[in-house]
Amino acid sequence: MEKINLKEKSNPIVEEKVLNWSSVQDAFQSAFGEEVYSSWLKHISLIKEYNDHVILGVKTRFFRDWITSRYADKILSELKKHKISINRIEFKIEPENISTKNSFNSTAISKITDIKNSVLNYNRLNPNLNFENFVTGTSNNLGFLSAKKACAQLSRYNPLFIYGGVGLGKTHLLNAIGLELSKNNKVMFISAERFMYQFIKSIKKNEMDSFKDFFRKANVFIIDDIQFIRGKEGLQEEFFHTFNSLFEQSSQIVISSDRAPNKLDRVQDRIKSRLSGGLVVDIGTPDYDLKLKILRQKISEYQSSFKENPDLEEDVINYIAKNSNSNIRDLIGTFNRVVAFGKMSKKSLSVADCKIILKDIYNSAKVITIDKIQNVTSNFFNITLSDMLSPRRSRPLARPRQVAMYLAKKLTSRSLPEIGRKFANRDHTTVIHAVKTIEKLTESNDELKKNVEELKSLVLSD
Ligand code: ADP
Ligand code: MG
Repeated sequence: MEKINLKEKSNPIVEEKVLNWSSVQDAFQSAFGEEVYSSWLKHISLIKEYNDHVILGVKTRFFRDWITSRYADKILSELKKHKISINRIEFKIEPENISTKNSFNSTAISKITDIKNSVLNYNRLNPNLNFENFVTGTSNNLGFLSAKKACAQLSRYNPLFIYGGVGLGKTHLLNAIGLELSKNNKVMFISAERFMYQFIKSIKKNEMDSFKDFFRKANVFIIDDIQFIRGKEGLQEEFFHTFNSLFEQSSQIVISSDRAPNKLDRVQDRIKSRLSGGLVVDIGTPDYDLKLKILRQKISEYQSSFKENPDLEEDVINYIAKNSNSNIRDLIGTFNRVVAFGKMSKKSLSVADCKIILKDIYNSAKVITIDKIQNVTSNFFNITLSDMLSPRRSRPLARPRQVAMYLAKKLTSRSLPEIGRKFANRDHTTVIHAVKTIEKLTESNDELKKNVEELKSLVLSD
């Protein structure tokens, strides 16, 4: 026993060793979190230690590239905490020894099932993202028609490459293709990120053969967000081979990306040329008409699933379509938010209400200041600003003052003491009182309620 211990101590680490690798590993675990640690850092070994640098061992080139591009700085700073003189890290690739590889055959079958099960989990198609509920307009019609065509005539456009900005419907279209084709084909639908995850896992577990088999069995291979492979050499290598074997066996390949193939920097040229070798179509940002059409569809979906109307006035719908930014995901988010708010407040919302509900989204760049609220309010009630801020308590001055405090609380993120200070150094309890008073009064006093609504609208517009 003693002999073995001695041997372990002197080899492979050289004389000056001061780092205790297992406590370094513990530090990694708390610094990087469990997920990153167990996927990456746990597998790093300490090969050699010098006074000012260390040589760390990793299993593959891909592993090394991944770790250096993401975690190297933080690893170094963690190491320095254990040994201050270290100022450099070198990585050495040390493939796993042969004996583990030999054990592959005996467990091959169980490993294949493992891959299969885990991949199947990601391969689920979402039945709600289909061709029927994909609304078309000028910006996405070509994408839609190409997707339909690709389904009707497999491998005619190979690959079909669909690109466009975030939230414009790429995943929806890819999923729709998958749904349509899964009736009669072996469809594989995976995001590039999942593909990588699966790839890494297979390397770690020595399951590359089953990985290759598995992906190459598909006769429809759909991969989402291919831009993820940028700068990841090992992954590109594997993707290239997967692509080629699928292509050679005439499997339909469908790819989405946030940019055109020739704009995929840090991607090998031979991959870019494969990606643009079939049909390349882009999805643009939706115009007003398409946004309206999507909102109308959302309303009818709402009606059929909840058996009730979402209660949106025509001008509210127009307002959302006009003011939402050019992203369908956000448009739908806005719609949901407005509808949810309407349901909560049990009333049909006005455009002014919408402006308030959506101010975070639309006005994120526009800051509403207390000064602005004070100016608008004093103008509105036809009093001077100094009167409004003065200590006088007569109602024609006190009421506008309270309204302005109320609006400052509702429309800005200022704290109560901050608001108090802006109102001639009043106490925060005065602000609370004002907010409560206005909240209470607007319940019964229609005139005041109307004024407050109008003021909100004025403050929120320019
Ligand atoms: P991307 O993948 O381009 O980022 P998604 O496909 O995830 O965008 O779309 C974002 C959201 O918008 C999804 O909920 C999707 O169903 C919806 N969506 C996008 N385009 C349309 C469309 N033309 N018709 C209906 N819903 C759409
Ligand atoms: Mg997507």
